[in-house]
Parts: sequence; structure tokens; C-alpha cells
Amino acid sequence: MVLDSIRVSELQRAMSCELSFFYSRTRKVEFKSVAMLMGSLVHKCLQDYFQTVLDGGNRADWGVMNSLLEQYFDHDKDGVDFSKVSELQARETAKHYLFTYHQKRCRLLYPLSVERQFKVKVKQGDRELVISGIIDLITTSMNIIDYKTTSSVSSWTQGRADAELQSALYPYLAKTHNLEIAGFEYDVFSGKDLKIYPVEFNMRKVTDAVRFAFRLQDTLENYPESLLSSKSKFVCNCCNWKDECDKRRI
Ligand code: SF4
Repeated sequence: MVLDSIRVSELQRAMSCELSFFYSRTRKVEFKSVAMLMGSLVHKCLQDYFQTVLDGGNRADWGVMNSLLEQYFDHDKDGVDFSKVSELQARETAKHYLFTYHQKRCRLLYPLSVERQFKVKVKQGDRELVISGIIDLITTSMNIIDYKTTSSVSSWTQGRADAELQSALYPYLAKTHNLEIAGFEYDVFSGKDLKIYPVEFNMRKVTDAVRFAFRLQDTLENYPESLLSSKSKFVCNCCNWKDECDKRRI
């Protein structure tokens, strides 16, 4: 497989399990879980909400957010597996997520850019790779905000926030577009809780991630069979491929 570009979220996944990344590029996801629906609804609604604010709309208006949610839910619910959580429960949960965020956070954030994509071409010897990422929100105080939805905020810790890649690569990507970022925060929220984890920029993490990306590029091109034996920090429980994974059958 030729790897000429990779998204930050894909890189994060590949660092946990390279095989999972390989599957995501070569197989079609046949199902959509409720958790996947929640993540995409929250991102779409907050994108439109902050874009409305950026265009001069009323930031206090929960009604705007609520009607966005109804629209997107009806549009995105097809194909979602509602066997464990009913459609009604999922709709209520999404509403709680967004209501919590709207009450506790939205009014304090002044958007400068919303869901903007950044790309940078990196080089190593004669190899090249494009790394890209979509930054959820950059505020006028030059803070990057990355939304994380979860069923349990307590499963998140500062250690986990420090280990995530976005806090290193997003400021790096923004800097290559002449945006000097002042801070980075993960906004982790569920139905009623919100926790904010600030993370300091760490250039070492960027260097390590880029080195890993080139190693992955080499593996996929020259030794794809080694993916089955590679050691990784398994994240099988939340993996889309856990039921059909060849590595788990070995
Ligand atoms: S099920 Fe586990 S080993 Fe298999 S691709 Fe997913 S994370 Fe990797």
C-alpha cells in the first residue's frame, strides 16, 4: 500500500494498532455505532453553532443548537445500530451532551476559526508525506479546543490527555500556516459532565509522531505482512474491526 497522506486522527489510531489503521484504509465500515453517531452529531452541531456566532448570530440561543441537532439526527440516524440504545434514548443523550456544552462552555468561547483543515508536507530523506488535521475550534485568544465525547468523563485523566497526539500536531500544523497558538485544551464531555484538560505543546511528540509516520509508510509499502505480528497497545474493545480481525484469530 502506498501511503502519501495521513490524518492526525489516523496517526493516533495507528500508534495504538497499525493493523487497525490498515483495515480502515482497505475495508469498508459496515456499521455505525451510537458512539460514532454521537461524535459526529456533536462536531456537526458545534461547527454550525460557532459558525453562526462567527457570522454575528446569537450565542445564547439554545434553540439554534437544538434545531441543528434535530436536523442532523434525522439525517444521520440511517444505518446506526440501535439494538443496545434505542433511537429515542440516543436522541436524548445527544441533547444532553450538547445542552451541557452549551450551558457550561459555548458562551465563553469566541471563535476565530471553525473546523478548519490544515495540511503540511513533511520530508525524511527522499520520502514525503502529507499530514493533515481538522481543528475543531480556534478561539480569538489563540487557544485550540478539541471536543471529546465520552460515555464516562471519569475514564479520562490528565495522563490520557497528555498522551493524545492532537495537542502536539495541531499547534504544529497551525504554526505552518502562520498561526501562533497560545494553548490547547481537550473539552471532554458526556450527558452531564464537562472536564477541560489543558496540555502544553511538546515538540518532541511532533518529531516522534513524524518519525512513526515514515516508519508506517515504509512498513505498508514494503512489509505489510508484518502488521499481523507487530506489537501494539491493543485497543480491541473499541475497535471497528474486532469481529473480523486476523490478528485476534492467531
Ligand atoms: S481488533 Fe485489536 S488487534 Fe485487531 S485491528 Fe483492532 S485494535 Fe488491532
